[in-house]
Amino acid sequence: MVMPDTNASTVRVRFCPSPTGNPHVGMIRTALFNWAFARHHQGTFIFRIEDTDASRDSDASYEQLLDSMDWLGLTWDEGPEVGGPYGPYRQSERREIYTDVAQRLLAAGHVYECFCTPEELEADRERARSQNRAPGYSRICRHLSTAQIGAHRASGRTSVLRFAMPDEEITWDDLVRGPLSFRPEFVPDYVIMRANGDPLYPLVNPLDDSLMHVTHVLRGEDLLSSTPRQIAMHSALADIGVGSGLTPAFGHLPYVMGEGNRKLSKRDPESSLLMYRETGYLPEGLLNYLALLGWSPGEDREFFSLAEMASLFSIDRVNASPARFDIKKCTAINADWIRHLSHDELIIRLMPYLSEAGLIAQPMTDGQREVLVQAVPLIAERLEVLTQAVGMLGFLLLAEGDFAIEPDQREHLDDSAAQVLDTATQALEQLTEWDTEAIQGQLRAQVVEGLGLKPKHAFTPIRIAVTGRRVSPPLFESMEILGRERCLGRMRNARLQIG
Ligand code: GLU
Repeated sequence: MVMPDTNASTVRVRFCPSPTGNPHVGMIRTALFNWAFARHHQGTFIFRIEDTDASRDSDASYEQLLDSMDWLGLTWDEGPEVGGPYGPYRQSERREIYTDVAQRLLAAGHVYECFCTPEELEADRERARSQNRAPGYSRICRHLSTAQIGAHRASGRTSVLRFAMPDEEITWDDLVRGPLSFRPEFVPDYVIMRANGDPLYPLVNPLDDSLMHVTHVLRGEDLLSSTPRQIAMHSALADIGVGSGLTPAFGHLPYVMGEGNRKLSKRDPESSLLMYRETGYLPEGLLNYLALLGWSPGEDREFFSLAEMASLFSIDRVNASPARFDIKKCTAINADWIRHLSHDELIIRLMPYLSEAGLIAQPMTDGQREVLVQAVPLIAERLEVLTQAVGMLGFLLLAEGDFAIEPDQREHLDDSAAQVLDTATQALEQLTEWDTEAIQGQLRAQVVEGLGLKPKHAFTPIRIAVTGRRVSPPLFESMEILGRERCLGRMRNARLQIG
């Protein structure tokens, strides 16, 4: 077998999802590792769409895939929209190629027509079970004579195409898991084309890898059992002179485990890429975390950019043991990334979320920008995900008529709150300067000391009155930004609500 050289600058890898359902984090982890491997070796990152199953694939899902890759900044060198020398990159547009190659494989004896009916296949499996053989097709149709084939046809039977697996052990040196081998009884002859001519994954995936000169296949461990078939297919393709003539090197990325030590499934909410985008994770934060699912740059380093990952990435450091998905850690890394952004950049990242929540106009007004420039530094350290800013900044951005104390906070406005609000309102009315220091000085003197209250008791009712919540950005700074009239107005309103 001719194996490609990892160090050559001709590295070509692919990310080849099927457009079914929503993108999930396991799939993105695979894309990321391929991307980083390609970038590290100045190679080519191919994006191929495996949409040969019309009953499961959808255009909506295709659009979402492209959009997600754009959002994440995982740029591809060949694929949809950018094209490339081996296109088209959507398998649904390559049907003629598959039909042609399948016929050539048939002519060369690497595949054969199988006429077995579903009932016969079931009976075949049953026999294998009762004889304690490994399950799998027992090659009933592999050596049919021309006369037998003619008879099947005459009786109206249709045929699928099956690949004739060689009777030898298939071995390879997995880039992640080391030497692996499969004995022939565990790799039965498999179907590559349906009776209606629909080509199947076991044909189209290795065939396109070969036609697109893919040198390294990095993909999830769940696909491990298909690898011996693909290696056999690569040899058959080389034999008939189709494709690159190379068998790519394979590396199987470890499973991603969710709660309760089972595989993270598409159905787990934390596996949905959309959820991260909607909740306001940064692409940098999410990708940084996903990189750690099976890889690390060493020296306990856990915070790095996409560019750093590309420069540090090495397949030797990919771990074979399952990786545990930990949403808390993902969120903590995201929070680090938010703190890492400049305030100007953070404002830009927050805009879509604030606009979606109706807090700012699109484009935003000068007044709104002014508020964000002042207020974002107050919350930047506390944000874990961007949507938290909606709750934290709402009181500053809402029009007065839309502002209200959150219903569950009203119970904290008791009789002692009435006294606090009366005193605070009078104290603040006397201020000639309206800034953080003056507000703080006055409230401490008149409310904390004047009424002999603990700061918490003194400031909570004011905070609820002014921000609508018990937890808010720093109170005095917030009051300065909000301005005298609005603060006093809200405090009087809250006082009226106590009665
Ligand atoms: N279309 C396949 C999938 O989404 C690709 C598998 C592979 O990388 O070989 O599972």
